[in-house]
Amino acid sequence: MMPVIFVSHGAPTLPLEPGETGVAWQKLGAQLPRPTAILVISAHWETHIPAISRAAEPETIHDFSGFPQALYQLRYPAPGAPDMAQAAAIALQQAGIPVQLDDTRGLDHGAWVPLSFLFPQADIPVAQLSLQPAQNPAWHIALGRALRPLREQGVLIIGSGSITHNLAATFRHPRGEPVPIWVSAFCDWMAQQIKAGDLDALSAYRTLAPYAAQNHPTEEHLLPLFVALGAATHIDNARHLNRVVTFGLLVMDAWLFDAEN
Ligand code: ZN
Repeated sequence: MMPVIFVSHGAPTLPLEPGETGVAWQKLGAQLPRPTAILVISAHWETHIPAISRAAEPETIHDFSGFPQALYQLRYPAPGAPDMAQAAAIALQQAGIPVQLDDTRGLDHGAWVPLSFLFPQADIPVAQLSLQPAQNPAWHIALGRALRPLREQGVLIIGSGSITHNLAATFRHPRGEPVPIWVSAFCDWMAQQIKAGDLDALSAYRTLAPYAAQNHPTEEHLLPLFVALGAATHIDNARHLNRVVTFGLLVMDAWLFDAEN
């Protein structure tokens, strides 16, 4: 069965300054079995009803502004995955979850930035599934659970968000200052619950975790983690990868679930 991944995708400039995260993603990609297709749940695609992208040739979306021109020239020319998108839609319907297919949506930077390191040849078909920011973690866990059968067909499910995501505080944070306690305490709590496999506690992170709202003023960068948690079977065996902090506050934690080697 194909493993499941969660990655913190960092700032859009990561392709220009990959640092330790780029190395960690390359290593992770090299140790994964080759997927038949990839389904990415990115923080940068939100819809009211779950949507799955079905474009045969998804364009690379540069969904950010004010960054160096070189970033806008990057492309991730992987083929789309219309058949897998269809299968994913059926899996959600069978779980009683409403779903729509989107024939024009391309790949946002939450998808193509990590993919360009994980699978640099861009030769594996890719589709995306959207988030529902009005819904809670349990909803997103249910999405992941409904998608589990796809893993038996070699589909790699990737949640792409950020384990911490307070951008306003990140911009204010003086360079070189240590990581504040409100960031480290939150990440430690999340890691403890994942290692304990405590999905109930994780679902209730907003009330139980220290400084939850401070780390996630809005939830969209954490919701992809819940889809990954739902898709995984043995959460307590998860591997904690890439414990790097960028810009003082942006924690780049990645998690690998159900790895066989
Ligand atoms: Zn993002």
